[in-house]
Amino acid sequence: MTIRMKTMTESPNPEPRTPNPASARTRGRLFILSAPSGAGKTTLCKTLLARFPDLRFSVSYTTRQPRAGETEGIDYFFISKDVFEKGIATGKWAEWAELHGNFYGTSAEFLDTAVSAGHDVLLDIDVQGMRQIIRRYPEAVTIFIMPPSFELLKSRLESRATDKKEVIAARLIHAEKEMAEKDRYRHIIVNDRLPDTEKELIEIVETYRVAVR
Ligand code: 5GP
Repeated sequence: MTIRMKTMTESPNPEPRTPNPASARTRGRLFILSAPSGAGKTTLCKTLLARFPDLRFSVSYTTRQPRAGETEGIDYFFISKDVFEKGIATGKWAEWAELHGNFYGTSAEFLDTAVSAGHDVLLDIDVQGMRQIIRRYPEAVTIFIMPPSFELLKSRLESRATDKKEVIAARLIHAEKEMAEKDRYRHIIVNDRLPDTEKELIEIVETYRVAVR
């Protein structure tokens, strides 16, 4: 298990030196979780949401087809490319990215409303999305989950029967690119053993939440 806490000079996304207690109490905080597909991120998001029932999950919008077991409005809002592109033109997205031929985006209205109302929000987005969110919310807490090895990631993706070979190959190439950007994150956790990873992740989130409440 590896957990790295970075110093201010290293991080492009530092913690403010003197957080304003008044604004901290009234505004919610964003927690961004990124990981290559197959690194266990969906499970870890569920763990956090179960542990912190008041944590809101930012349900992304996507143009990709639903996978078996995915539910509209819970896993994603599944929308057409036309609707997504209209959203780009009208500034609906706080961030968006094109991945493996599909669009993914986060509702700006959802984030702004939740944070203004004092709710902490969990986002499951990729590195491109994280960079855009940090520009808008520089105090967001960024966490990158690393698979224990590239081989394990490959075998996990291959065992996911829903994706075609080409899709898996594209995801692996993307995973390598994402892992190369892990140092942009404030925290990095290697998902060796799930219970350890869950514990580390909960501790990180708890630390920030305790600090402002
Ligand atoms: P999947 O298709 O496997 O659900 O997700 C593929 C990738 O898209 C994952 O890395 C996931 O974190 C990322 N993703 C999901 N929603 C969003 C989003 O709203 N914005 C961005 N930038 N990435 C997203």
